[in-house]
Amino acid sequence: MNYLQYYPVDIVNGEGTRCTLFVSGCTHACKGCYNQKSWSFSAGVPFDNAMEEQILKDLKDTRIKRQGLSLSGGDPLHPLNVETLLPLVQRIKRECPDKDIWCWTGYKLEELDDYQRKMLPYIDVLIDGKFVQELADPALVWRGSSNQIVHRFRSNEF
Ligand code: SF4
Repeated sequence: MNYLQYYPVDIVNGEGTRCTLFVSGCTHACKGCYNQKSWSFSAGVPFDNAMEEQILKDLKDTRIKRQGLSLSGGDPLHPLNVETLLPLVQRIKRECPDKDIWCWTGYKLEELDDYQRKMLPYIDVLIDGKFVQELADPALVWRGSSNQIVHRFRSNEF
């Protein structure tokens, strides 16, 4: 998996102060996509062990307390990305059980196959669905268009 950007401290992609990883690769091709550069799976740089260790270190940082990790893109739930992200989210929940994981995907929850659904036990908040330009509304919170749904799987009292 490649990623486009990593923000070690982020206050706009999800609740609280967070770490955010923008992964490469998306096949949804939404009209009006905010980041077409993210469509290519070879955009950005490879996600390596050093990056994984950095994320864990940042989540454990006690100086700037992070509420959790946000996964955006691109599409973190594309099967090619799940391959890398599943062991990452499993490790985060093992080593940092008090941190929450937010994930944005262009798939609708009910469209996810069994492999993609392996991510769900580790995701606290899932924002699903393609971006639909005709339904775009800047007043929406955490989503770009009104067809998208914010699924809160777990209460996040972090
Ligand atoms: S799902 Fe997101 S990244 Fe993919 S095309 Fe749609 S808006 Fe762009």
